Amino acid sequence: MSARVLDGQALARAMQEEIRDEVAAFTAQHGRPPGLGIVLVGDNPASEIYVRNKLKTGGEIGFRADLERLPASATLADTLALVERLNRSDAHDGILVQSPLPKAMGADAEQRVFDSIAPEKDVDGLTPVNVGLLVQKRAALVSCTPSGIIELLDRERIQIAGRHAVVIGRSDIVGKPMAILLLHRDATVTVCHSRTPNLADVCRGADVLVAAVGRPGLVTKEFVKPGAAVVDVGMNKVTDAKVAESLFTDGHPRLALFRSKGSVLVGDVHPEVADVAGALTPVPGGVGPLTITMLMRNTLRAARARAGQTVS
Ligand code: NAP
Repeated sequence: MSARVLDGQALARAMQEEIRDEVAAFTAQHGRPPGLGIVLVGDNPASEIYVRNKLKTGGEIGFRADLERLPASATLADTLALVERLNRSDAHDGILVQSPLPKAMGADAEQRVFDSIAPEKDVDGLTPVNVGLLVQKRAALVSCTPSGIIELLDRERIQIAGRHAVVIGRSDIVGKPMAILLLHRDATVTVCHSRTPNLADVCRGADVLVAAVGRPGLVTKEFVKPGAAVVDVGMNKVTDAKVAESLFTDGHPRLALFRSKGSVLVGDVHPEVADVAGALTPVPGGVGPLTITMLMRNTLRAARARAGQTVS
């Protein structure tokens, strides 16, 4: 069997067209575009790329998208002051603080900064208010990656209700909200993590398997029930030839890419899973583009709510 490819890139493009029209209507009605402020502290190379992509997509579909940069030497107080300025700004409907913050800021810095975002502008769905509302199934602003995955499963007509969903990973940004969204859609949900014994056996019970771990190729054929839908959230830059060779056979175009560039982006799901799964998201081109699209949808939702419009 070769798994059906769940094309997140194509869905993202289609959704962005819908959002573009809605953004134009908002801008015409309110005399300003919906605005997103992205806070980037330091010079983490991966964060630079993520932020650049978010700014580019936002600009292309009509948002005001501003980068608010602080140097790596910035203090927690500097960062909190910047978030406070965006909280008060009339031009900004959404605030995203790019993770990770520099380690020197302290272990609890990220939580304190996320907590300081005004809940109505929290387009990453990370504040305690929005997490609480999510648990109670009444959130307007839900973490972007999990809500993008639900959108993809729905549009690809993959049944969730009554199925067994297994989520590997329990982070606040992906694993936990993913599990809650699947639960709200009437799946029976199991959440796995680094202390889960017999991980492959547990995963093999899944009709819908979501891997959000950050380990290249962790999910092998043995983890997957034949015909299951597998969602690969992992985005791992592989620079070790041995790892690349363990994932791709000789002659595979991705291995050739690795050999020419010295790195390749891979997910948490081993490519061999395509022989067993019924449906599978690719990396790149699966979950990633949807995450950015949901960020835009959340920003539009936040703008509408701030403008007093009803948001469904
Ligand atoms: P994270 O905060 O590091 O969480 C990783 C989770 O995986 C943790 O719960 C951890 O368990 C679990 N884990 C680690 N090793 C494991 C193992 N050997 N077996 C089972 N579970 C294991 O990461 P994250 O922020 O959720 O991100 C996960 C991955 O998704 C990363 O590759 C990230 O780059 C990617 N990501 C992609 C997008 C996208 O748009 N495509 C968005 C966000 C994240 P413990 O809790 O026990 O430590």
